[in-house]
Amino acid sequence: MIRKYLLLSPGPTPVPQEILLEGAKETIHHRTPEFVKLLEETLELTKYVFQTKHPVYVLTSSGTGALETAVVNLVNPGEKAIIVNAGKFGERWVEIAKAYGVNVVEIKLPWGKAVTPEMIEKAMKENPDAKVIFTTYSETSTGTVIDLENIAKLTKDTDVVLVTDAVSGLLAEPLKMDEWGVDVVVSGSQKGWMLPPGLAFIAINDKAYAKVEKCTNSRYYFDLRKYKKSSPDNPWTTAVNLIYMLNKAVKMLKEEGIENVWARHALYGEATRAAVKALGLTFFSERPGNVLTAVNSPKGIPSSKLTKLMRDKYGVTIAAGQEPMKDEIFRISHLGYLTPFDIITGITALEFALNEMGYKVEIGKGVVAAEEVLFKGLVK
Ligand SMILES: *Cc1c(COP(=O)(O)O)cnc(C)c1O
Repeated sequence: MIRKYLLLSPGPTPVPQEILLEGAKETIHHRTPEFVKLLEETLELTKYVFQTKHPVYVLTSSGTGALETAVVNLVNPGEKAIIVNAGKFGERWVEIAKAYGVNVVEIKLPWGKAVTPEMIEKAMKENPDAKVIFTTYSETSTGTVIDLENIAKLTKDTDVVLVTDAVSGLLAEPLKMDEWGVDVVVSGSQKGWMLPPGLAFIAINDKAYAKVEKCTNSRYYFDLRKYKKSSPDNPWTTAVNLIYMLNKAVKMLKEEGIENVWARHALYGEATRAAVKALGLTFFSERPGNVLTAVNSPKGIPSSKLTKLMRDKYGVTIAAGQEPMKDEIFRISHLGYLTPFDIITGITALEFALNEMGYKVEIGKGVVAAEEVLFKGLVK
């Protein structure tokens, strides 16, 4: 059987040929005027993705590097910070903050739950000395999206800095950094950007940057003052060929239009959820988003076996759960460079694999449900 590789994982995601070819261009020196001009143009364009007029810095790291950057530049050791922990990536905020001696006030929720503005408000009232809040816009381990717009209303006109991990959420979920008043937004190239892994981003407004200047934390590689000082150049050797690719990606995203990018993810999310429901399966998250759909694996079907079968036999890569949900859930991503037909292929492979593992679902039932949503959204 011929297998085509289909990546329905919440990072890495597929990269279009036009972008891959940009990466194949000759590597030039990163300090040449030619390259610095390209970097400057690229970072200007990148602001559009964040819907901000404030600086966006590009880091040569995976997304976690941007999380660490936010922590080390915004909170001093011993200082209080409120951190929402409702999954693997919320837990990562906590781990990084603890590694730097931050006094962590944790809003700890069971996986699959979404923090509410009320919970944030309560934590702020109880901890008036906490001046930074760390959230996860789309918690990729659970498929949950939070009500960031209303959370931002709580901090907007205060001296509290709101940071969000939008590593996976950016581009898949609407995010208007300046309009909503989110102070710091971080992301990573291998998610909604249609790029390979290797770059991380941090967008930071003036209110948050004022804290960076005052922060006395130890830092070096990720010291944002160095990034600001050398701007538009990068303080270190940046990933030249990935910048070529980023330039192309942001141009493509701008041409599509950010609203259309959000709408594309919303449509695929809706189609996937319709398929899941039609197959009689249930969502893991109480507030499923448009980055991915996390599904409770049916009884007797360990999700790591299901995802392995889909990958090895059909060439379709979805994700199993992350510890401790490894075999409890599977996660179908609808993130990044995907067509409606990729979604259909993924659901078909899921239907086949479930039946093959002994969980009987009616073949085509999920596909039809997804197609109906896609047809309504696409065929006007
Ligand atoms: C992918 C991801 C990250 C970063 O992971 P890296 O492996 O360091 O790129 C952080 N937060 C969320 C929500 C993610 O989905």
